[in-house]
Amino acid sequence: MHNEFVDEQLNERLARTGSRLTAQRREVYSVLLQKRDHPSAEEVFIRAKGRMPDISMATVYNCLDTLVKCGLVKQVHHDRGATRYCSNMNEHHHFYCDECGGTYDIDTDPEAGHPAMTLPNGFRMRSFEIAFSGLCPQCAAKKRHK
Ligand SMILES: [Zn+2]
Ligand SMILES: [Zn+2]
Repeated sequence: MHNEFVDEQLNERLARTGSRLTAQRREVYSVLLQKRDHPSAEEVFIRAKGRMPDISMATVYNCLDTLVKCGLVKQVHHDRGATRYCSNMNEHHHFYCDECGGTYDIDTDPEAGHPAMTLPNGFRMRSFEIAFSGLCPQCAAKKRHK
């Protein structure tokens, strides 16, 4: 996914935080766009290394950090698992499969608005996330066949 549109978008976003577009940053970003399965930093490293054998784990961490800071990538945390990275910047929530550990995007319905919850006085909300957990379709199908 090395097209000009992605480069342009990357360039513009990076420039806003005073960062430059480097081959490594582009590679890490394209890994995240290619397969939106919420890889951990280690998984991003393995995938990036396939096409860029000299890239180091430290560089991958660095690139991920920059992409998070400029708002192109989000960190996803669940329980005590490794931090995962998500390149879907539309508002969405996550579904975590208890069986295979998969993380799936659940789109929000803009019509539905915010959930009916009231924050105690004094709290100011910046964002919220609903965590769903259970079985993904593949794991649910396997259970049915047993
Ligand atoms: Zn699953
Ligand atoms: Zn996501």
